[in-house]
Amino acid sequence: MLLAAPRGYCAGVDRAVEAVERALEHYGAPVYVRKEIVHNKYVVETLTARGAVFVEETDQVPEGERVIFSAHGVSPAVHAQAAARSLQTIDATCPLVTKVHKEAVRFAREDFDILLIGHDGHEEVEGTAGEAPDHVQLVNGPDAVDAVSVRDPERVVWLSQTTLSVDETMDTVRRLRERFPAMQDPPSDDICYATQNRQVAVKKLAPDCDLVIVVGSANSSNSVRLVEVALDAGARSSYRIDQASELRDEWFDGVTTVGLTSGASVPEILVRDVLDALATRGYGEVEEVRTATEDLMFSLPRELRADLKTAGSGDTRPRRENRRSLSVEPA
Ligand code: SF4
Repeated sequence: MLLAAPRGYCAGVDRAVEAVERALEHYGAPVYVRKEIVHNKYVVETLTARGAVFVEETDQVPEGERVIFSAHGVSPAVHAQAAARSLQTIDATCPLVTKVHKEAVRFAREDFDILLIGHDGHEEVEGTAGEAPDHVQLVNGPDAVDAVSVRDPERVVWLSQTTLSVDETMDTVRRLRERFPAMQDPPSDDICYATQNRQVAVKKLAPDCDLVIVVGSANSSNSVRLVEVALDAGARSSYRIDQASELRDEWFDGVTTVGLTSGASVPEILVRDVLDALATRGYGEVEEVRTATEDLMFSLPRELRADLKTAGSGDTRPRRENRRSLSVEPA
């Protein structure tokens, strides 16, 4: 067994999940959450069992109630809809997504055409594009480059979703630059540290693996990318699962070495379950393959910190012990 590190929870997911947990403790249930707080089935089920109510849109939240925006971010239109319904909002958008929003606002103000590399329909992309709808054009991978048209090839910049494959994005950028040589780069990497670190780790172990298992949900962009990265890096086969019970006997035919990693929205408890299941199949000798050490941590959302402070309810700092786990079992 080769176990990738880093894997699992990133700082943005850790913060968003803790925001819901602390809101439930402080305000009591129900606490409404627009969209899945993070893209993980287990996390959503666990928080639902504690009293979180996940809705698709703010018009499903009773007027005047409190709603938390997910880690993927929302557009200004969603903020306006919430204000129109007098909702009390807690914005758990990952600060690294907010950074990309700010870049979009800045380049739109300077009248650039913004080529946003990302997946059509993903919540993060909708939020970022919504910051500057008249300037943003979505580029859904290298094959979409030919269809791009801009007003002035001298005033073009590319930005990206935070959870893409680094290699595929660079391929898209290369093809865009062939068409628009003056295209500007983002001021700093938009693909976040956590996405990059998890891909680097899986790339390192994949060539030695007959099979790479990625724990993560189907709608988790960074988890799905890890399967692609593992295959590109030389793993003989790779599958994504939500939980240990999804492991299939036929995947293990002729397999000597198994690699294991997890997406940025996956609590470590799910990885431990898979490790246990693999041990019973004879893959009990575990070697960690570490390519980076992460200690980034974000403070809780501003609105929640302010309410905790006003109520004198103690510590407004993130609870480090919550990292990479959830405190209750799902229903
Ligand atoms: S994957 Fe990256 S951008 Fe997304 S929540 Fe985690 S740290 Fe933030």
